Amino acid sequence: MISIPSRWRLAGLAALASVMSFQAQAAYPDKPVTLLVPFAAGGPTDIVARALASSMEKSLGQTVIVENKPSAGGVVAPGEVARSAPDGYKILIHHLGMATAPSLYRKLAYKPTEDFVHLGLINAVPMTLLGKPNFPANNMAEAVKYIQANAKTINLANAGLGAASHLCGLMFMSLINTDLTTVPYKGTAPAMTDLMGGQTDLLCDQTTATIPHIKGGKIKVFAVTSPQRIEAIKEVPTAAEAGLKGFELSIWHGLYAPKGLPPDIAKKLNDSLRAAMKDENFRKRMIELGSVMFPENQLTPEAHLSFLKSETDRWGKLIVKAGQFAD
Ligand code: ASP
Repeated sequence: MISIPSRWRLAGLAALASVMSFQAQAAYPDKPVTLLVPFAAGGPTDIVARALASSMEKSLGQTVIVENKPSAGGVVAPGEVARSAPDGYKILIHHLGMATAPSLYRKLAYKPTEDFVHLGLINAVPMTLLGKPNFPANNMAEAVKYIQANAKTINLANAGLGAASHLCGLMFMSLINTDLTTVPYKGTAPAMTDLMGGQTDLLCDQTTATIPHIKGGKIKVFAVTSPQRIEAIKEVPTAAEAGLKGFELSIWHGLYAPKGLPPDIAKKLNDSLRAAMKDENFRKRMIELGSVMFPENQLTPEAHLSFLKSETDRWGKLIVKAGQFAD
């Protein structure tokens, strides 16, 4: 019998392991990919996620399962993804909450700029300021007057600290110099149900979710937070037109995987995101819902990370100034 020196056996095993891991990666994805959404189903983040998932499925050749992990502020899902195996089978979509959470939460279980591979930016969406169907105002001027006179009895729903709706509400209250009681939900979908049912008075939410309700006359709308009006709801004034200068807010989304993701898998996911951004079904749907799509030259992981860092800085300063923190 020929005996093989043990260091050769070890080298052989290492080579075999690397071939096997290369094959595993080369075959990626050979099973469904899960896309985690940090808020409730039916809300604006979920709407972007589901449209993106069905487009990415075409280029990945695998099912992309959308899984909602709702929590106020959307801070549970990123922690779960950060701690998951970096194999490309669990990824995350999130909005600017990834930039606000580090300043808002003293005990955040993840570092948005360090614990993830940044797979790319998607779109930016304005918000709308909404009232329940029988809110006693029909435009922004009437709404502000009524809110200022009845502040103690009015509540403003949001999706928790650091959610887009929370930031939008903070901005609105500071611009009109009035504090309202805020009610946190695990996403704006359940908040919207309560708004339509009249159990809550006011809500800020992204156009991605609100356009159909506005068109259907199910809620009142006072303004959109973009510099220009949105084609699909042309009748809705911008906040500046409605007399509330500075009430501008754009909610951007990005795609994330856990740190340690092999570069070839990261590239496959980035390529798939790029393909979705060119896919007419996805693109058209997002634009109809008020989105501005990130341009091709900003679809790199580097551009995503650098944008996240600059947004973290920008919001960090505003949040520290506003003195809003959670444990
Ligand atoms: N619109 C929510 C927010 O306020 C999130 C959601 O439910 O998608 O951040």
